[in-house]
Amino acid sequence: MLDSLPKDKSQKVIPNGYEEKVWKVTASDAAKNCKNYIRDIVDNLVLEPNPEKSLIALSIGDPTVYGNLSPPTETVQAVLEIVAEGKYNGYGPTVGTDDARKAVAKYLSFDGVEYNYKDVILCSGCSSSLDLCITALADPNKGHNIVIPKPGFTIYKTLAESIGVEVRNYNLIPEYDWIVDLAHLEAQIDNNTAAIVINNPSNPCGSVYSEDHLKDILDIAYKYKVPIIADEIYERLVFSETRFVSIAAVNSRVPVLVCGGLAKRFLVPGWRMGWILFNDPIGAFDSEIKKGLICLSQKTIGSNSIVQGALPTILELTPQKFYDDLNDTLYKNAKSAYDIISQINGLTPYMPAGTMYMMIKIEIQCFPQFQTGLDFMQRLMEEESVFCLPGECFGITGFMRIVITVPSEMLSEACERMSGFCKRYYQ
Ligand SMILES: *Cc1c(COP(=O)(O)O)cnc(C)c1O
Repeated sequence: MLDSLPKDKSQKVIPNGYEEKVWKVTASDAAKNCKNYIRDIVDNLVLEPNPEKSLIALSIGDPTVYGNLSPPTETVQAVLEIVAEGKYNGYGPTVGTDDARKAVAKYLSFDGVEYNYKDVILCSGCSSSLDLCITALADPNKGHNIVIPKPGFTIYKTLAESIGVEVRNYNLIPEYDWIVDLAHLEAQIDNNTAAIVINNPSNPCGSVYSEDHLKDILDIAYKYKVPIIADEIYERLVFSETRFVSIAAVNSRVPVLVCGGLAKRFLVPGWRMGWILFNDPIGAFDSEIKKGLICLSQKTIGSNSIVQGALPTILELTPQKFYDDLNDTLYKNAKSAYDIISQINGLTPYMPAGTMYMMIKIEIQCFPQFQTGLDFMQRLMEEESVFCLPGECFGITGFMRIVITVPSEMLSEACERMSGFCKRYYQ
């Protein structure tokens, strides 16, 4: 058989008029403009932990990594049963099955908000919900921009810039529990603004907005007739006396796309189940956006069928105690870290009202040895093997974010090490 192959494989047959090309496969703009801002910053740091001390990573925004937090047993059981039943192995409607959408509509209908299941689109995680919303609203060919929080979760920027949509930042104010600087938000908006992105409760700030603050944001959106994309992935993940209010509960006249999912509150980020809900009191999305989003959901042919099958059980049978215990554990961790860090000269922690994070300000002028917060954190890693995410990963300097989902002993140990480190360098 081999003998029948042409002897000289380098001999090429080139049709008339065809100019021979060399291989050059170039990436599209969408691929080239797709940036992972956290990786870009972290990869540029020299991170050598102290070999004498065990590494404590307070940087990873995944509550499952240390094994101390597990999803509700009802949730796990529901998935096992759905897999065993074998009825959810096929494709479903790209927006999700009616039963799963009904379950989400019911789960999020509280505080006077009432969703119909037709207001729900299921997606592959909340990131994918955000992707569809930004893509449906913002058009690079029309010079559109979106406005996003600073500090904020970088995926908004990644998603928008990948499709050529400009991003503008509005400030959050640390001194006022990280509320939106409303004047600054207003100053970012122009005729080409396609959406205002808000993230409540906030990653990385841990802040939770009041009803009044949400109304102020809605007023600005109404004034300029700009729809809102509300990232509520941390809905009801709040501490102590804090109450979570969805923007939908106080909205009577602004078209809002509410995004969320199972990842954080159910401790299953890898399951990739997210959703978009239409909170559109005036029907502004009816003519084009609804259809557009349904069509965009066809790009992935829908979200995970197994998790969809289990969704009604997950959302209905998870006992209140599970949610309360998780909030309580996170609150206790946040409080004990806060108590230690507030005693450290040169660091100012901001007690979170919810989420899985806490922001800490590095009073860099107190540490003349270090030029920037990044230098500070690099040395903290080298000497104490404690790693936090620099504020730069969220668009601001002079801060770091710690996760409070790690085991409590580990968190306290990390805070004590920070304390020792700061004592050595504080002036
Ligand atoms: C984790 C996170 C998401 C993404 O959630 P997935 O469902 O895992 O895609 C979205 N927004 C914020 C602010 C987050 O912290």
